[in-house]
Amino acid sequence: MPAVPAAVEAVLRVALPLPLPRLFDYRAPPAWRADQAAVGCRVRVPFGPRELVGVVAATGPADPAAPELREVLERLDPEPLLHGELFASLQWLARYCHAPLGEVLATALPAALRRGEPQPDTRTWAWRLTEAGNTAQAAMRAGRPKRLADLLHAAPRDEEALDDLLEGWRGAARTLAGRGLVERVAVPASQLAPAPGAGPEPNPEQARAIGAVLASTGFAPLLLDGVTGSGKTEVYLHAIADCLARGRQALVLVPEIGLTPQTLARFRARLGVPVHALHSGLNDAERARVWSAALRGEARVVVGTRSAVFTPLPEAGLIVVDEEHDGSYKQQDGIRYHARDFALVRARALEVPVVLGSATPSLESLHNAGSGRYLHLRLSQRAGNARPPPVRVLDVRKRALDNGLSRELLEAIDAALAADGQVLVFRNRRGYAPVLLCHDCGWSAQCRRCDAAMTVHGGGRRLQCHHCGHRQAAPPACPDCAGLALQPQGVGTERLEEMLMQRFGARVPVLRIDRGSTRRRDALQKHFETLGERPGLLVGTQMLAKGHDLAGLTLVAVVGIDEGLFSADFRAAEKLAQLLIQVAGRAGRAERAGEVLLQTHHPDHPLLQTLINGGYHAFAASELAQREEAGFPPFAHMALLRAESRHADPPMAFLQRARALLAEAASRSGDSVDGGLVLHGPLPAPMARRAGMYRAQLPLSALQRRDLHLALDRALPAIHALPEARRTRWSLDVDPVDLY
Ligand code: ADP
Ligand code: ZN
Ligand code: ZN
Repeated sequence: MPAVPAAVEAVLRVALPLPLPRLFDYRAPPAWRADQAAVGCRVRVPFGPRELVGVVAATGPADPAAPELREVLERLDPEPLLHGELFASLQWLARYCHAPLGEVLATALPAALRRGEPQPDTRTWAWRLTEAGNTAQAAMRAGRPKRLADLLHAAPRDEEALDDLLEGWRGAARTLAGRGLVERVAVPASQLAPAPGAGPEPNPEQARAIGAVLASTGFAPLLLDGVTGSGKTEVYLHAIADCLARGRQALVLVPEIGLTPQTLARFRARLGVPVHALHSGLNDAERARVWSAALRGEARVVVGTRSAVFTPLPEAGLIVVDEEHDGSYKQQDGIRYHARDFALVRARALEVPVVLGSATPSLESLHNAGSGRYLHLRLSQRAGNARPPPVRVLDVRKRALDNGLSRELLEAIDAALAADGQVLVFRNRRGYAPVLLCHDCGWSAQCRRCDAAMTVHGGGRRLQCHHCGHRQAAPPACPDCAGLALQPQGVGTERLEEMLMQRFGARVPVLRIDRGSTRRRDALQKHFETLGERPGLLVGTQMLAKGHDLAGLTLVAVVGIDEGLFSADFRAAEKLAQLLIQVAGRAGRAERAGEVLLQTHHPDHPLLQTLINGGYHAFAASELAQREEAGFPPFAHMALLRAESRHADPPMAFLQRARALLAEAASRSGDSVDGGLVLHGPLPAPMARRAGMYRAQLPLSALQRRDLHLALDRALPAIHALPEARRTRWSLDVDPVDLY
């Protein structure tokens, strides 16, 4: 008897956080239907012996050939968590990165939501004194509870404000609440916000830039190209205020190091609405709270670092990317997205303006501005009375150096301190010395797990690998020849600090600022506060290059940049130029004039010459011409297939097979006028072994983005299926920033 065909059942296609480029079908439980309303909701599903949380990406008819489907265990959201523009943009990102949608969604969602926790309470909580508290406050004993009570006596404060105002206030609040003196209350956000504060009157250049942002309708990318201290932040603030006045939300992306309590305080004071911060210092619950507050339209201004680009913006009005050239916008593992680039994609989908600000715009952005794709806004003058510092090159060829510093440089430091100035010595190498060398036989300390020298720390007592973190004590004698002539070679920030301390420590404070000395996110600011306006010396790495106003800084001394002049990475010149301009920009931010000294063995190097005589834009023009000549981004589009393994051979074996598949896929398309896909390698990575892993890579490039993506789309299923793919860990990086 012929079977009666059953009505085709609708199934849920679920994106799961697994490295498999597909969706997974499940049956909906009887209680609810597998219809469009389920799309964008999180579900808990069985997967093998495990349970996973995924997001329903689509619904559709069951495949009659497929085996019996399992049923969803639980629907976690009554309403879709992901929908509209954000969901569509994330699907675009998955296609662009050639990554599974489930992994992209897992990257985009705050960890608590990714784990399946319910959407958090987004009310703003504030603390206030009870009646008993009001009575008791004046007579309380000194201490943190008293300080908290004093703060609350002036006005109720929300928890974010208290985070800025009083360290450790939560403990004090618990103590006082236990005694019935304070209470926690939910308040409408609008009640807490201070009245918007006034800023300085915009100068003509700022006014023009503000006018351009306000005049733009729909999607409009604007490059705000303004020298350090030219008042870019003022332009953002005006644009955000206008966005708020139009009843829309604003998203501001900043580099990790730029998101200080001071930045937030400046935004809060000026905008007159609560400003929600999203950064790595928050715990999972706090991150989920901000994300959900934005989704509900409660958060009107979100200021955050890289992953804040995934903030839902149902009422978007503006996106700002500050320091758009900053390397921290590129995610370096997992889904390797670029937050600036994704911000542009979202702004297009949201039909809002996106302002990219920098004193040293990326060559990509300058190229886009040059070709008319972005509106190019220039702020050429420092705001207020500050003047840009002159740069002087110190040729140190054949000069005697004391721990890497020339006599002329030391004299300049001496003079600047004598004139009550502050001095910044920039050396982009932390630790005591980059190498420990045996003077008798030439042995040097190498990391056991990396192809790299161990950096000397602790004045010569400790060794540390800056690539894998491995630490050990420095050997007392040479492991090869048993000689006692082990010497730290070269100069890092620790050694500079030690030497400057000996010379100037009796006269002024000497502070070192690098990742060794400044782990906590507000430590940098603490250092600056310690120094205040007094004369003093700061020694440090690129941490010093970013955004902090140092009113008393009159001399910036840049040493030991020469190795950066000869790097193999095609982006090295751009990064070095940006770093030099940013560091130089620290000097003379306020009333006092500043000077920059650049100590080098290569005073005639074209990069330095162009940069000093022509400035950043002259450098950028010449560098762009070279990139075009060589066929590098932004004139070509790149991707990098990486592979690594504990064993030496599998990465190269895998990449050889992948290369063949890609070449075949490219030849099949064959319809490009520009030669299509170019494959280089595979080659061992510049650091062929790192943290015990052997690493290799296959760079791919094409003049047309389409050719690159077409070849990848065609070849990746077969690459996934390669037997070699199971013997190595591999990943694809579209638009790689670091080729290591
Ligand atoms: P950027 O973001 O370009 O580094 P900021 O917006 O932080 O610059 O401005 C640098 C300094 O100049 C700040 O102290 C700011 O208050 C001040 N400033 C900005 N615009 C003006 C202006 N139009 N008049 C006076 N001072 C200004
Ligand atoms: Zn030796
Ligand atoms: Zn190592």
